[in-house]
Amino acid sequence: VFISFEGGDGAGKSTQMQMLHDHLVTERSVAEDLILTTREPGGTELGRSVRDLLLHGEHVDPRAEALLYAADRAHHIATLVRPHLARGGLVLGDRYLDSSIAYQGAGRSLEPDEIGSLSLWAVGGLLPHRTILLDVPTEMLQERRATGQDRLESTGGDFHAAVRQEFLDLADADPDRFAVIDGTQPREQVHAQVLEAVAGVLGL
Ligand code: C5P
Repeated sequence: VFISFEGGDGAGKSTQMQMLHDHLVTERSVAEDLILTTREPGGTELGRSVRDLLLHGEHVDPRAEALLYAADRAHHIATLVRPHLARGGLVLGDRYLDSSIAYQGAGRSLEPDEIGSLSLWAVGGLLPHRTILLDVPTEMLQERRATGQDRLESTGGDFHAAVRQEFLDLADADPDRFAVIDGTQPREQVHAQVLEAVAGVLGL
């Protein structure tokens, strides 16, 4: 089973992924090696290089940026995620192709549909069984980032507003895959809703 976590920087994705992981291991006795927690960009060595290039290197043309994310994702899926799924494992992913549609598509003003097609091609059509969208208003994310919880994206508010709206539109278009959770709630409450959202696909 493949579950992805999406949302803006500082929405709480990595915290919630970790809480779900810990719950499954300690409360549900899922073997730790059955759970692959991974992230993109950055889940593989290639991914870490791409992450470094994209986040700390020179300014990259938006189309080149979209292709680099797609290349990272293709490699990550082929070498880590698919083999783990083939062994019957559970994959928890911090970001997946919806991030590209939102950031490279809506945020960078490329065509979200084209980025969607590129991303799906890159992964041979693999979609998550469930996608948790942690939704937090743009202004609140900016406050969280300003207080040092998150870091990397220094682009302005319009960019983040476009990204947030695209995530919400994607969720509207595919309610079977997406669960939208209000990420402004206390983390325990968000966690409880994450558990509800994955109960079906995990057979909990
Ligand atoms: O969530 P994470 O820390 O991995 O994100 C790193 C940065 O990469 C964020 O600032 C996010 O805005 C950016 N990003 C992006 N396009 C993606 C994935 C992440 O611009 N497809």
